[in-house]
Amino acid sequence: MIDTPLQHPVVVLGSGLAAVSFVGGLRAGGFTGGIIVIGDEAEPPYDRPPLSKEFQREGAVEKIRLDLGRARDVEWLRGTPASKVDTRRKEVQLADGRSLGYGTLVFATGATPRRLPALQQAPMPVLTLRALEDAQRIRATLAPGVRLVVIGGGVVGLELAATARGMGAFVTVIESLGRLMNRCASATLAAAVARVHLEQGVDLRLSRQVTGFAGTALALDDGSKVQADLVVVGIGVVANDDLARAADIACDDGIFVDRLGRTTCPAVYAIGDVTRQRNPISGRFERIETWSNAQNQGLAVARTLLDPATAPYADIPWYWSDQYDLRMQVAGVSQGDDEIVRGDAASGSKFSLIQLHRGRAVGVTCMNNAREFSSLKRLLGDVVLPDRAALADPSTDLRKLLATPKA
Ligand SMILES: Cc1cc2nc3c(=O)[nH]c(=O)nc-3n(C[C@H](O)[C@H](O)[C@H](O)COP(=O)(O)OP(=O)(O)OC[C@H]3O[C@@H](n4cnc5c(N)ncnc54)[C@H](O)[C@@H]3O)c2cc1C
Repeated sequence: MIDTPLQHPVVVLGSGLAAVSFVGGLRAGGFTGGIIVIGDEAEPPYDRPPLSKEFQREGAVEKIRLDLGRARDVEWLRGTPASKVDTRRKEVQLADGRSLGYGTLVFATGATPRRLPALQQAPMPVLTLRALEDAQRIRATLAPGVRLVVIGGGVVGLELAATARGMGAFVTVIESLGRLMNRCASATLAAAVARVHLEQGVDLRLSRQVTGFAGTALALDDGSKVQADLVVVGIGVVANDDLARAADIACDDGIFVDRLGRTTCPAVYAIGDVTRQRNPISGRFERIETWSNAQNQGLAVARTLLDPATAPYADIPWYWSDQYDLRMQVAGVSQGDDEIVRGDAASGSKFSLIQLHRGRAVGVTCMNNAREFSSLKRLLGDVVLPDRAALADPSTDLRKLLATPKA
């Protein structure tokens, strides 16, 4: 089991959700040793999902603070980036010149948005959305009539597009592929989301790339131009694994971890968005960039460190996204070789989807159908599927269907 028992002090790099969940888990589990959390942001820990949604509308920082109630007696170093890790001396160097010894080190450094070099000199603000500071800058510009261009049709960009439309901005979304949410949604869900954005007046440019800018407009690869007062680039993130890589810990856009959060270096663990872990459904090592992973992996690693007999982390990945009055929840892997549709996905706003791979359920999606989500999640894994026609019929009571003993 665990070959490196928890040693004091515990030093955590990064002060986001995964870090807060981890240190809260250690204290809740009775750990009384020293804990130091080193965060490069000056802000006390906050939640990121509202940054593309409620925070844009309300601007209320106090509403998005993470609850530190369980993370008692923790030394928080804020505005202090770690700049080097020496695993031989078990030491972390800080950018301000200090160095700190650790017994156990935990990377919870998250990820950084990719940028578009072609827009480096653009005259209009070109921002990304990850930190509170980014959200505040976007919010300061968003207003009725402002022309917002979102580059990238992923979840964060689409959430911002929806929020901005609700605030009266003119919104264009430019996506280089022929569909939205390619990495994290089935084609059926993506088509439903595209339909709603079009209905809401978003100018959706699929299969288009930004090549540069011309005055206050962005230039696209088909020769067209899009006027922009504000550009937000949402083309994915890269893991903040540079310090781990420099310390010879195995990484590949993400720090490789096992189900106990162990990296390839003794006494060094990793949690949250920065990790590359085995997805229990696909079997592949993936980065799982979701709120629930940061929360639950952080907690699970704390528990297994304190008590090796605790079940290791094996959660099925899932996320939610809110756009307009749509709430979508997606679990497992988003694409398979077959799909069961429960309800009207072509024109309705309430339906569920089951993704199949070789006859096995590998993913479920609920659109405005939260009541079905936990029942459908039970289909994932090595489960014999109930009758397909019954599953596809939205009037079938899933709880009864899934409780029926199999022949
Ligand atoms: C705008 C937005 C909306 C989202 N909406 C949803 C949603 O609706 N549903 C959902 O499931 N997920 C959503 N997510 C994803 C979710 O918020 C993340 O998966 C989660 O916040 C990851 O937490 P983390 O602690 O691993 O990383 P982070 O929250 O990124 O925390 C890492 C911290 O480490 C710091 N750091 C990095 N390097 C260093 C260093 N060298 N020294 C010190 N500190 C360092 C970073 O600055 C950061 O503060 C959203 C994310 C964003 C940005």
